[in-house]
Amino acid sequence: MPSHTDAIILGGGISGLTTGFYLAEKGLCVRILEKSSRVGGSIRSERRDGFLIEFGPNTVLDTTPLLGELFQKLGIASERVDASPQAKNRYIVRDGKLHALPTSPLAFLKTPLFSTTAKLRLLLEPFISRAPEDREESLADFVTRRIGPEFLDYAINPFVAGVYAGDPAHLGVQSAFPKLHALEGEHGSLIRGAIFSARQRKKSGESPKNRAAMLGFQNGLQTFPDALQRALGDSVSTTCVLRSVSRTASGFSVTLESGEILEAPALLSTVPAHSFASLPIEFAQPLATTLDAIIHPPVAMVFMGFDKPPGGIERDGFGFLVPAKEKRQILGCIWSSTVFDDRTPPGGAGLTAFVGGSRQPDLARLDDTGLAALVLDELRALMGITATPSLVAVQKWEKAIPQYQVGYGRTMDAISRFENATPGFFVAGNFRGGISVPDCVKQSRAMADRISDFLQSHSLPKTHRQ
Ligand SMILES: Cc1cc2nc3c(=O)[nH]c(=O)nc-3n(C[C@H](O)[C@H](O)[C@H](O)COP(=O)(O)OP(=O)(O)OC[C@H]3O[C@@H](n4cnc5c(N)ncnc54)[C@H](O)[C@@H]3O)c2cc1C
Repeated sequence: MPSHTDAIILGGGISGLTTGFYLAEKGLCVRILEKSSRVGGSIRSERRDGFLIEFGPNTVLDTTPLLGELFQKLGIASERVDASPQAKNRYIVRDGKLHALPTSPLAFLKTPLFSTTAKLRLLLEPFISRAPEDREESLADFVTRRIGPEFLDYAINPFVAGVYAGDPAHLGVQSAFPKLHALEGEHGSLIRGAIFSARQRKKSGESPKNRAAMLGFQNGLQTFPDALQRALGDSVSTTCVLRSVSRTASGFSVTLESGEILEAPALLSTVPAHSFASLPIEFAQPLATTLDAIIHPPVAMVFMGFDKPPGGIERDGFGFLVPAKEKRQILGCIWSSTVFDDRTPPGGAGLTAFVGGSRQPDLARLDDTGLAALVLDELRALMGITATPSLVAVQKWEKAIPQYQVGYGRTMDAISRFENATPGFFVAGNFRGGISVPDCVKQSRAMADRISDFLQSHSLPKTHRQ
């Protein structure tokens, strides 16, 4: 006998769990099916030998009030930790040295990170005309046109390596940085637009990314998905293998390898774009081909734990990013034990480096020993580290982050067309609406409203699991 529910959700990452939570809040019955033995997807934290290691995201920006509200509802607000004030300092490598990213107009004028020519070029920005609207520009073209090539090389290129592990020459400005693109469209200038947006945000309560608090949890970000799983109780099933998904007269039927059959009028996929094609959903094959084409470069995370201070420069910031022009072998490094307290044994230090991305995909595929040696060499060269780590942990993400490339709008259109043609089938995840954890949460909130509206507009009553 099949069991009935209002919505079946595939995937127990932050997108699937938060959508499930919001639907349950509306009084709807949900069932979340997660393939692996744990929830959280990309979010994974673990304590080893007294070090707290984040294997995926290290910090979350508090850019939406939804996060705080969720933490309260889940009873984890008291476990939240905010990054130390020092984490506001960020460094960029230029000519093999770390330079602080300027945070005030005076610091900007003084910094050796950008040449005088580049600084003067910035003054022209309000007078640069808009791009023609008939084509999407790459982020690299957009930045070069508006603020000049040096800011592309020494600000945007390393920033994009840190966020997307991507390449500005391929990311579409409209798709990957819609707000930046809108500033030009609406105000004709990034500088004028930034001033206007700051006033708007003050009214709405949203925080700009560069000023939002950076948060974590005492026991790592895994606290968040774990709390969602607890709140959702037996609505969440892990270690689920799907045997088939089919359409029925009243919605969808999902059969698991265990033999269990679930039926629901609404079905939401939140599995990563690169996993969608392997779902046993024959009627979704055209969409599977589209999602499979989204590029996800590999990234290796290498955590190094030191029992005692590792020597070298003072780690008084979030960490550093490396521009491609510098031709080094790491994308950047987070000074984890500066960002948050209590992440190491007393007197120790923790550093989290990232390798690979679309810049050097092959490096991300080195074996663990090779990765550790490469990272240590780079940290010695760039930071003057002298100690040997007492703990090294490596996590390889073969398909790390979806790249919102030029023309990505066509991918988004294909998803919408498929949803329209298949009423009750919904698609979400970090390849739609932003890659960050808060973007996924915002998207989940909107998705829960869409699913509940769909159920109501089809006069589908709330069911109760049998
Ligand atoms: C290395 C790295 C660093 C990052 N750093 C940050 C950061 O600092 N800050 C930030 O905000 N964001 C960061 N992100 C991005 C952010 O973590 C992710 O975009 C977000 O967590 C994605 O959530 P999701 O639920 O959409 O997808 P996922 O987390 O990928 O979850 C999808 C889930 O679907 C499951 N699944 C797959 N196939 C099936 C199937 N057939 N059946 C059932 N379930 C299935 C998976 O097991 C997984 O649990 C980072 C990402 C990575 C990889």
